Amino acid sequence: MEQNKTQAFPVEDALEMILMFDGMGKISYANSMARMKLGYGRDLCQKNICDIFPNEFKMSEEGLETEYPFGYAQQNIIAYRKNLTCFPVEARIMSSEVVLDMYICMANDILEKQYLSKEIEKVRQEAQEAMKVKSEFVANVTHELRTPVNGILGNVRELLETVTDEPTLKPLRLIERCCGDMNKIINNILDFSKLEAGKFVLEPRKFNFRNMLDYVKSNHINKITEKGLEFFMTVSPQIPEHIVADELRIVQILNNLLSNAQKFTSFGKITVEVVKTARVNDRIELFFIVKDSGVGIDKADKDKLFQSFSQVDASISRKYGGTGLGLNICKQLVELMGGKIEVESEANKGSTFSFSIWAGVCGEDEEIPVSEDGNKASSMIVSLTDMAKDGEEDQKDIRTYGTPENKENLKKVLSKLILCVEMENWEKAEMFMETVRQLTEEAPHEVKRVVLKLKMAIQKENYEKITTEFEELNQFL
Ligand code: ADP
Repeated sequence: MEQNKTQAFPVEDALEMILMFDGMGKISYANSMARMKLGYGRDLCQKNICDIFPNEFKMSEEGLETEYPFGYAQQNIIAYRKNLTCFPVEARIMSSEVVLDMYICMANDILEKQYLSKEIEKVRQEAQEAMKVKSEFVANVTHELRTPVNGILGNVRELLETVTDEPTLKPLRLIERCCGDMNKIINNILDFSKLEAGKFVLEPRKFNFRNMLDYVKSNHINKITEKGLEFFMTVSPQIPEHIVADELRIVQILNNLLSNAQKFTSFGKITVEVVKTARVNDRIELFFIVKDSGVGIDKADKDKLFQSFSQVDASISRKYGGTGLGLNICKQLVELMGGKIEVESEANKGSTFSFSIWAGVCGEDEEIPVSEDGNKASSMIVSLTDMAKDGEEDQKDIRTYGTPENKENLKKVLSKLILCVEMENWEKAEMFMETVRQLTEEAPHEVKRVVLKLKMAIQKENYEKITTEFEELNQFL
């Protein structure tokens, strides 16, 4: 085929190299990209395909020899230029469906692509290496930190047993609490770095499931009831007494979710529900739901929630504390246990965190039967406050200033607040103050003004001003 006849081909200016050759390998057409990339002029048409792809095509006495898999599939092969240098291409070579004894080759230069993917791989490996070094460093440092913290804690606990005078006891208790908080942070960082480095190993063993839940409940119940919140826990009777799983880690996930629920809920209730959702041979899927009626999370912030170091609002870390690692650790642990963690939430309406895990069951320890009178024999339903009510309350109504529920809640919180002031527990007083603020969000201007003055007085720990504002606020109620 003559070159000038092919000028009108739309392929002439294509960005792909296009070559046509016959059964003897003789090139009859090459577009401008092929000529440019291969370093030829019009003389490319005098050449043989063996000159361009010598690894794939050879000339023998019988003619053109090749094992090339003709067709539309891309093959990575090497193309040789006129000056005998070479470069990698992604090529498709097929026989023409129109012209007999004619082959068409379409090829793309992938030198740059290969170079870039090598660079990307190099950067990825470097980043992985840096991550490993960082994780090892963090693991070492946190391990080293633990020793002095535990040293302080041990000594303080000894002193707490001997010291009796109140002024000395107060700072000692504070040191004990600070050490406890520090240990929690150290443990979180340690877990996080182990999980990131892929060195985390689960330790499954047989344990009593309901005893484990009782233990979790005992960890939180004081704080929950102190805040005047309701607490319910229900466990499906279909869950056997004993299961095989990493008990410590399930406790860790539940502790984290319940601490958050308690931290971000000022009124209403917190519920925990566990059900069995599937069974495959001797493994069951458990589904946990931890629900609160707290401040909730904005839709836009929900995606960030399970990322490491993520706190929805930077001011949260100042107000409530925390490192933003908890939920990320929960997510990674849940995934290690074959499950998934999710959240449903709406700002000011509360949050529902749910997660699933797979656990083993022991043959002799089957499901707990439903008793004759239809009650679920071992279903654990725990209501822990005198405010227990069935059904879903409309949280908005509770918060609407002026409703009887709102006023009732306000009175309760205010009396707890004044008790904390009298005991000089300023941290708790501030916590109740925050609840008062939320309960009076929709109050008339003059009420809000008093609330603000009360808040400032508490922050300044000014006892006289607090009692004045407290009295004034009580009069509104
Ligand atoms: P931290 O360890 O600092 O508590 P988490 O990963 O557990 O961090 O939580 C990250 C952030 O997610 C919290 O700072 C808060 O903004 C938000 N959050 C978690 N649980 C709740 C909840 N029950 N209600 C409202 N916000 C929540």
